[in-house]
Amino acid sequence: MAVTDEPALRADDLHYAYGDRVAVDGVSLSVSRGEILGLLGPNGAGKSTTIKMLIGLLPPAAGRIEVLGMPMPQQRMQIQARIGVVFEEKNLYPNLSGRENLAFFARLFGLADVDLDALLERVGLGTRGRDRVSGYSKGMRQRLTVARALVNRPDVLFLDEPTDGLDPVSARSIRALIRAEAERGVAVLLTTHDMYEADALSDRVAFINEGRILALDAPERLKLTHGQRSVRVRRQVGDTVEETVVALDGEELRALIGRDGLLTIHTEEATLEDVFVDFAGRGLE
Ligand code: ATP
Repeated sequence: MAVTDEPALRADDLHYAYGDRVAVDGVSLSVSRGEILGLLGPNGAGKSTTIKMLIGLLPPAAGRIEVLGMPMPQQRMQIQARIGVVFEEKNLYPNLSGRENLAFFARLFGLADVDLDALLERVGLGTRGRDRVSGYSKGMRQRLTVARALVNRPDVLFLDEPTDGLDPVSARSIRALIRAEAERGVAVLLTTHDMYEADALSDRVAFINEGRILALDAPERLKLTHGQRSVRVRRQVGDTVEETVVALDGEELRALIGRDGLLTIHTEEATLEDVFVDFAGRGLE
């Protein structure tokens, strides 16, 4: 992957509150070209509010945002021409076909030379592009939303819960598209409350809880540094099978291995959820 040092997106000490409710409380992050940064946190953690500030939908109460070297919101129009956004609220036109939806969006950008058929092909809607969106499945709509975000060949892509509620096949095809965009040098920021998604897609993961970033690192490093590996041991005890989970490097394991009736021993890697609990004192759900 072509990750470079130059950050395409940088946010410093962002704050936002809805009335008295603090939603974002000092968030700083940066995303390089070709990099996928996953913002992982439970419902209400402040992920959507952070993205809304980064794409210019909400003005930060405090903090600084720079996208492609331009300050947000001061250069909002110039920035919006060069970013792509996949947001939870998917405002597609149901009575138009998928292709017409894309054409409409391309016109908004003043782009005349977009190869809409190639774009529809890329998101697996090649044969359904002329059908009305009202007849699309949830996965097809989401793929069309991703296609729409790619109409202007963006340099930075923002995706809020891109695979939420999709079946595994649709989710996989959207993940493949996101990876392909990063491969061509796009900086990607995505939010998710799904640790598998964060782990599978992100070069780096930021844990967010109660509006604050608790940790930010490569998923492997988070798991290795903070997660404790465990061992699942199954033993035959009389007529029953007893299953115990113990730490990999503890006395307990040595004691168990010395006993009779050993059936299986499996090491288990820490998950991002385990590490998240370590930092936040709560899980992702
Ligand atoms: P989810 O995964 O549920 O989308 P999130 O991590 O994106 O959650 P936000 O939507 O940013 O979190 O919400 C952060 C906090 O701000 C929450 O406490 C939420 O209740 C509150 N909040 C969000 N939008 C509004 C709003 N329009 N008015 C008032 N409070 C809001």
